[in-house]
Amino acid sequence: MLAASACDLENYLRYPDHALDGRLAQLRAQLGERVLILGHHYQRDEVIRFSDYQGDSLRLAQRAVEHPEAEFIIFCGVHFMAESADILRAPHQQVILPDLNAGCSMADMADDSQVEDAWEQLQELGLAEQFLPITYMNSTAAIKAFCGREGGAVCTSSNAPAAFRWGFELRPRIFFLPDQHLGRNTGVKLGLRLDEMAVWDPRQPLGGNTAAALARARVLLWKGHCSVHQRFRPEQVDQWRARDPQIRILVHPECSHEVVAKADLVGSTDFIIRQLRQAPAGTRWAVGTELHLVHRLADEHPEQTVAPLDNDGCPVCSTMFRISPQHLAWVLENLTLGQVVNRIRVKDETKHWARVALNRMLALAPAASALAAPVLAESVA
Ligand code: SF4
Repeated sequence: MLAASACDLENYLRYPDHALDGRLAQLRAQLGERVLILGHHYQRDEVIRFSDYQGDSLRLAQRAVEHPEAEFIIFCGVHFMAESADILRAPHQQVILPDLNAGCSMADMADDSQVEDAWEQLQELGLAEQFLPITYMNSTAAIKAFCGREGGAVCTSSNAPAAFRWGFELRPRIFFLPDQHLGRNTGVKLGLRLDEMAVWDPRQPLGGNTAAALARARVLLWKGHCSVHQRFRPEQVDQWRARDPQIRILVHPECSHEVVAKADLVGSTDFIIRQLRQAPAGTRWAVGTELHLVHRLADEHPEQTVAPLDNDGCPVCSTMFRISPQHLAWVLENLTLGQVVNRIRVKDETKHWARVALNRMLALAPAASALAAPVLAESVA
């Protein structure tokens, strides 16, 4: 059995996944209400079974404030999610990410210095004031803060169309970060043509565009993507339909436009979960999202047939997979010894502007605002 003197990460990483189940349960009981464990929907089962709540990144971040008795919020997700929890948390709470290497490839594709540089180029062209920056929740705190400072907002995959409508009421153009696919799918949903949207590649001057093309663009899409959802292909939809004409194709809007255009239903992770809960027994699904969630949904719905859209590959979020039972046990063991490891802290200035951008999003949806109003009270530690 691991003891206090063994509280070094290397000692935990030697154990196979399930060998620490008993110790995890003990530590969890010992810490009681002082700890809240949050598990993102894409987290693997060996970890999710120890979470107090499962959910998407925004909902989980809100859970932290709904539990003021919890001093320590352990976020089993990726870095931007833990940052969001730190932005929303109460002053006496601390947020922990069990493995600091658990980043998000999409969020990391929009570095704040690259975004500031793009904004300066738009300013030099006299175009910046026409663009309203909107960032997907899946972005760093620095990018959320950039949007807050420049009059923009955050959005989720559920409320991206509402955020775009709001944005177009304020300015003629939208600068969308960091997921080009969610931005393009949202633009199409609102009736924009594909040629009204340009892509900004941060490695090229003017993002790879001419000044004239930028002046025409209604939506400027940052060249970022999710490494999981970009794997899905329109041919996979065709293959499923050829095999089974009754199959229902259900995909996330981080998939490419070509995949989304061929799907029966498109929506956020919560939307996907709801569709399967509501569907009649015997419905057959091919689901285009992260594999751990698809497998969990298949287990939860034996009355239906649930399969991954990509049957040959392995669309898992490899960065989220870094959060392991071993890391979770190591974090908890340290807390029992009075040591906080892997704390996530967002700078106060960044936190302030990121919260401004989040509040603008929450003001778009009265139901969500009511839910989150106390969550977003100013709380800079
Ligand atoms: S699934 Fe995609 S967007 Fe979500 S955390 Fe993983 S890489 Fe980032």
